[in-house]
Amino acid sequence: SIVAEKILQRKSLQIRNKQQDWQESPEGQKMLEFRRSLPAHKEKDALLNFITQNQVVVVSGETGCGKTTQLPQYILESEIEAGRGAACSIICTQPRRISAMSVAERVAAERGENLGESVGYKVRLEGMKGRDTRLLFCTTGILLRRLLVDRSLKGVSHVVVDEIHERGMNEDFLLIVLKELLPRRPELRLILMSATLNAELFSSYFGGAPMIHIPGFTYPVRSHFLENILETTGYRLTSYNQIDNYGQEKMWKMQKQSLRKRKSQIASAVEDAIEAADFMDYGPRTRESLSCWNPDSIGFNLIEHVLCHIIKKERPGAVLVFMTGWDDINSLKDQLQAHPLLGDPSRVLLLACHGSMASSEQRLIFDKPEDGVRKIVLATNMAETSITINDVVFVVDCGKAKETSYDALNNTPCLLPSWISKASARQRRGRAGRVQPGECYHLYPRCVYDAFADYQLPELLRTPLQSLCLQIKSLQLGSISEFLSRALQPPEPLSVQNAIEYLMVIGALDASENLTVLGRNLSMLPVEPKLGKMLLFGAIFNCLDPIMTVVAGLSARDPFLMPFDKKDLAESAKTQFSSRDYSDHLALVRAYDGWKDAERHQSGYEYCWKNFLSAQTLKAIDSLRKQFFYLLKDTGLLDNTEICNTWSHDEHLIRAIICAGLFPGICSVVNKEKSISLKTMEDGQSSVNGQELKIPHPWLVFNEKVKVNSVFLRDSTAVSDSVVLLFGGNVSRGDLDGHLKMLGGYLEFFMNPALADTYLRLKKELEELIQK
Ligand code: ADP
Ligand code: MG
Repeated sequence: SIVAEKILQRKSLQIRNKQQDWQESPEGQKMLEFRRSLPAHKEKDALLNFITQNQVVVVSGETGCGKTTQLPQYILESEIEAGRGAACSIICTQPRRISAMSVAERVAAERGENLGESVGYKVRLEGMKGRDTRLLFCTTGILLRRLLVDRSLKGVSHVVVDEIHERGMNEDFLLIVLKELLPRRPELRLILMSATLNAELFSSYFGGAPMIHIPGFTYPVRSHFLENILETTGYRLTSYNQIDNYGQEKMWKMQKQSLRKRKSQIASAVEDAIEAADFMDYGPRTRESLSCWNPDSIGFNLIEHVLCHIIKKERPGAVLVFMTGWDDINSLKDQLQAHPLLGDPSRVLLLACHGSMASSEQRLIFDKPEDGVRKIVLATNMAETSITINDVVFVVDCGKAKETSYDALNNTPCLLPSWISKASARQRRGRAGRVQPGECYHLYPRCVYDAFADYQLPELLRTPLQSLCLQIKSLQLGSISEFLSRALQPPEPLSVQNAIEYLMVIGALDASENLTVLGRNLSMLPVEPKLGKMLLFGAIFNCLDPIMTVVAGLSARDPFLMPFDKKDLAESAKTQFSSRDYSDHLALVRAYDGWKDAERHQSGYEYCWKNFLSAQTLKAIDSLRKQFFYLLKDTGLLDNTEICNTWSHDEHLIRAIICAGLFPGICSVVNKEKSISLKTMEDGQSSVNGQELKIPHPWLVFNEKVKVNSVFLRDSTAVSDSVVLLFGGNVSRGDLDGHLKMLGGYLEFFMNPALADTYLRLKKELEELIQK
């Protein structure tokens, strides 16, 4: 070991000498100068002192002050200085793949090295890391995985957890695990880094860990909300193209006429749009009704208009446009490229910045464009804090983001965009004030901003608990309730218990809370378990297309529009799709298929108009379906795409799979003379009166609730006895006894116990099928 020690010492010396050589070279000097100009540099000694003297330190500082690129480097440098250059191992986690990669690349460049020398990165399925790598940037998911096999993080000297203010689920997970690890590894140092000032929470979680703030400076940024934007840019906005610029314009026009006649002043157009949005939601002007004020539908035209305005009328400076996701960015980019001004490369440098782009393209966003060329970067909310583009003077904020989902290992982005918080909007605005005073264009009215939540809830608290529980199990983190009770902000114990019970009922967990085969598969899909189960069954039974439509429909809004002055017409339009066989889900499948068909003949617009369908929602469904497909393929749950639609025309099978997913959301139906009565598991009996309605099957599976006070029981499908027998409940391998008990419960409640034998026989057959 003396020899080993000697080798380590020699190596440490080599690393040190090499670094000194670089710092003396002209480029090295320039880089050093830049690094010394960052606000973090002034705090360097204090930071290092804190870290030496405390096991846990919380560091906060304005985005761009040098936390991510500098602090891990300071640690590395001080270890090298102390002759431990070859012995230390620093891990710095990033919430996103792209930041792990780009930060590693940047830090290596700052040290005059190639990636994979002393600095490396590791993300899922990719990495650049050598024997001598001492500073590793990785996604939080990668570190979680490592903790699975190496509970004490042997050999690691420092863990730096970045962007904790985002309160991503992975980070909250990681903190629980690290908190338990720290007493066992007294030498290990933990540094938490946050872009905002709310460091107290983290500090007190770790028993009053010291906090250090890096003061920074930003220039003031002026906010323009939609109403001002319209005024200053002269853009004419009509309420109906706000709501849906794809296919509903005529309809909205008619509705608006019957609603009220108004002068088309700009301000009132905004008001109209909100009113129409409320109107569409049948609700008051609440946060929920914001869901209709959809930036997808604000349309790229407005963005285009604002960008032209900036180029023609404003001072020089880069523009950063916040979009919701990759597909949005790509389609906007296509549209802008076709524009005479915005698509002219001698005047505009148009760049995209999102998780899945190539790193060569990524570097371009940091470069200064030539004189007279305006840099426009289209980015996701990643550019809020993890990436800093220095020359941004203008920010365009669409107000929405796709929140990251619960998928702890893959960190797949969640599927639907939602409104950001006030804190995020402020953060976005702040990106415009790095080098001089800036301007921020919020593409929504002030009153919409006022309805934003102050902060976004931590992901752990907004993630459906059922999915969360599956995740804990697949990460082998022990008892669900016990694990969650140790979180920074634990969810309600009763809801946790309910979620566990639900997972047992659907067969994702066995009676002793272990993952079943089904559960393991479901944990790979970043959708709610019931939806995951449908997708899985759709893939297994080669009935994928319609099931993807159903699941997408359940995740998006309802594409069937019910404007209240045309309710009857709209309802009969819908009935024509369900053709009295009582399935909202099949109605959706038919409507969607019809729309796709019409689209192929360039008549999607008329089709929607005629059938009271929202083209925008259908498009959202279309895009979700694509995501599901890749998801299933990626996770290996869909191996043969050639046969995956062999049974897609079989509506009995579609019903059965819907039943498999929605169970135990089921009620029994008794058709009476002038009413039907429904019996759910929890609420007992309720009846629907005075309808000529006859439900063709004795059971109704439903998604969330059955609205018994209206003609249409929305989001439900009628299913037969045999389907419930075969597909209701637990059909995964697992605890048959436990299932039998549960089944007994249902049977007593619902049906003839004599059927139990048949049930078990059929169930076994089905199980064998699934195992195959
Ligand atoms: P923080 O983590 O505090 O937000 P960073 O360490 O990411 O700050 O960035 C510090 C500075 O380094 C910023 O001013 C940023 O512009 C610059 N920087 C970061 N990455 C790059 C890069 N790839 N190319 C050029 N400059 C960069
Ligand atoms: Mg950072």
